[in-house]
Amino acid sequence: MGSSFHNMIDGHVHIFGHGIQGVKDLLAYEKKQGYAACNYLSCECMGDAAQNALGIYLKAVAPENYAFGGLTYRYDCDFEKELLDLWEIGFDGMKMVEDKPTIRKELGVSFHDPRYDRFYARLEEMQIALVAHVADPEECWDRELIPDWAYAAGYFYGDGTYVEKETLYEEVEDVLCRFPRLRIVLAHLYFMSADLERLTALMERHKNVCLDIVSGTEMYWNFAKRRDDWREFFLKYQDRIVYGTDNMNLYEEEEIRNADITNDLQRDFLESSGEVLAWDKKTLGIALPKEVLKKIYRDNFIRLTGERPRPLNREKAAQYLKGRLDNGALALTEEERGVILEVLKVLEA
Ligand SMILES: [Zn+2]
Repeated sequence: MGSSFHNMIDGHVHIFGHGIQGVKDLLAYEKKQGYAACNYLSCECMGDAAQNALGIYLKAVAPENYAFGGLTYRYDCDFEKELLDLWEIGFDGMKMVEDKPTIRKELGVSFHDPRYDRFYARLEEMQIALVAHVADPEECWDRELIPDWAYAAGYFYGDGTYVEKETLYEEVEDVLCRFPRLRIVLAHLYFMSADLERLTALMERHKNVCLDIVSGTEMYWNFAKRRDDWREFFLKYQDRIVYGTDNMNLYEEEEIRNADITNDLQRDFLESSGEVLAWDKKTLGIALPKEVLKKIYRDNFIRLTGERPRPLNREKAAQYLKGRLDNGALALTEEERGVILEVLKVLEA
């Protein structure tokens, strides 16, 4: 079932590989799914120093869309300065995926590391939105429960070499206590859909925390176990829940089909009252009222970022990209260099 809404914003999308062609392919997919605009989340920390450049390109060619910048770990980067640079360029917020356990293992910087203090303080002071992916579904730490595909993809964290989920939650709690006005969106429902009471307590403790409901499909099967309680939750926190999809540029037929199913699942869950089928599983829709859906699909995101995406400052953007090309410490790969040069060419055309 397609959504009956016409001005939905998809608050959580990515572009991996394929350079600026990837941007075009993502936008074509978003259009097919009927979203009026999307919010690209740069994942610089995942070992791609052209991710912010893609955000700049997106803003240059399709300015109705939003883009959040990311931090690099290739050198001892001043995170506060990086934030201010990206803000000046016209990014609409920041993205962190540093505490997805695989990335955390590589980077080894905890969410409450003092290196971030001035960065968080600035975000808080300037009320700039931060989307943070922290942890992963609980079954990833459990050899018995982890799905085969996730194990095969290297998402098993129970061998003692990965950070514990509870450690991550303690670190985030510390940051939320020290920066209570932080405009933070915890992605994927903070991977807490198995513990409704704990998530509710967090929402009460930290009144500025928002959640996005991007699957992790595990979330939707968890919802089905306590459908009425979750409906209550969505109604209670209707001003603090943001819609997003994790859509990205995809090329394999099966991946596209899975994305189609996931998009349908998420919208049907929110909108319909009966059984919602996806693959060989089912959940129960929560049939939210139209005015609540409007908040989740659009208004809440806009309240966090602005009615319109911030305009791109082409001059600053070009300056930033040139600085990156010249920054030996960044050790750009040939591919990254190629993407950045291509974006520069567009800016200077
Ligand atoms: Zn994501």
